[in-house]
This record gives sequence, structure tokens and C-alpha cells, in this order.
Amino acid sequence: MILVTGRTSLQVLAHSRQAAVGVLTCELQVDVLVEELKGLLAGHLPPRRAEHTPQQLMTAPHLRVAGIVPGASMPRRTAHREIDHDGLQRAARELLRALGADVEDEGLEETPRRVAAAYSELLTPRPFRATTFPNEGYDELIVARAIPFHSLCMHHLLPFQGVAHIGYLPGESLIGLSKLGRVVELFARDLQIQEQLTTQIADWLDEELEPKGVGVVLEAEHLCMSLRGVQKQGAKTVTSALHGLVRDDARTRQEFLALTTRTSHDH
Ligand code: ZN
Repeated sequence: MILVTGRTSLQVLAHSRQAAVGVLTCELQVDVLVEELKGLLAGHLPPRRAEHTPQQLMTAPHLRVAGIVPGASMPRRTAHREIDHDGLQRAARELLRALGADVEDEGLEETPRRVAAAYSELLTPRPFRATTFPNEGYDELIVARAIPFHSLCMHHLLPFQGVAHIGYLPGESLIGLSKLGRVVELFARDLQIQEQLTTQIADWLDEELEPKGVGVVLEAEHLCMSLRGVQKQGAKTVTSALHGLVRDDARTRQEFLALTTRTSHDH
């Protein structure tokens, strides 16, 4: 679903429900070294998993050792991009030249280096441990609203930025709310289109948490639209991906959409 609206406000990070805030405060950071983990897992692995690497094992959401679900240091399905920093600087210099700029100008001297650094940062996600923990019977939607993000439009290499609303109906695993922002960033630091970013976040949560349902809504302003006069400034593009019961169960879907669209109507 894609919808363009004329809203201009940016929202601050807020946890919408008492229960969700409770989950956040319960989150435990469990650091397990790969080598220790291998040892721990040696006796517990189903045979079909035996050929997998420790990294893959660490991302397996169903794998439990003493009640702990080990998280991955770097989740799967991220773009393994090699950034050529020297090439990027040369290209930035060429771009300036092609734009008719005097690349010998003192003011532009450092620009290729700065451009290279900026694009490198925008396209390099930070590794994180996607710590999950067992769900002790929490059976309601968990929603994090208005998580700020920025990304880079693959069609124009211009930024788009806005907020992500993420909700899931937990199965056997929970993830810390603070990690939801890191998941968004993981896929946002890429050459992106908003629709793809939305589904990548939803798919990742599906795979890592095996929840009963997932909903992701992104609202973003694209500089390639607002600067070029196609849409008036402040126009937001809204994309959504609803999976499982968040899509199929009318009550859950309504609850998710009410919680995630409420921020927009508050302003
Ligand atoms: Zn664009």
C-alpha cells in the first residue's frame, strides 16, 4: 500500500503502551562468545542444523540454550557492499568537474573527501546483537511508534527521512524495543526505495522472531520529490507491510493501524 499525504510534522520516539515499555525495561543483554556458544550448542543441535556455521546458528530464532535465544552480531540479508573510498573520492571530484565547478577552488579542496565519508556512513549499517528472549505469555500487540530513520533513494542518491512504526504480535520470542530501531537502520543504510525498505524490515522480524503477526508502516519525506517541485514540501510517502495476524485478523489489524496512525492525527 502506498499513499502520499501532505503532513509536515516529525514525531519523536515514543512507546505507545504500558506493556511495551515494561518489555523494554526487562530486556537483558546476553553476550555469548561464538566459541562458548559452539560448545554449549554441541549437544543440543538438531542434525539438519549441523552443517551451518556458528554465525548462522546464532541467528536461528528457535534455538534456545538454558532459556536464552542468542542474537546475531550481524543479521543476515544485509547488503555486503565493498565501498571503494579512493574511487568514491575520484568520482566525487569528477562529478564536481562535470557540474562545471572549479575543482581547484580552495573551498572545494576537501569536498571529495567529505562526500566520500558521508556516502560511506550513509551506506554502512552498524553491527548489532539482535538479542531476543523468551516470551512468558505476553499475548498482545507490541508497538514502537515514530522511530526516526533516514535512508538514501536509489533512483536519485538523495536522502529520504521520516519515521517507522513497527508492531508485532509475539510468538515464542520477544525482541527489545531498542533493537527495533537498529533493525530499521540495518536496512535503511542502503541504496533503497521505501517500499522495499518496508518489506525488508517486516521480513526480518518474521524470520528472526517468528511472531504471530508483524506490521511495519513508514512515513517519509523524499528530497527527490520535495526539492524538485513534484510534490509540495512536507509531502509524506506512507508505505506499509502487514503479515500474519496483523494482516488477516480484523481486530488486530485495526488495533495496529489505530496505534500507528494516531501519531499523525495528533498534530
Ligand atoms: Zn528519488
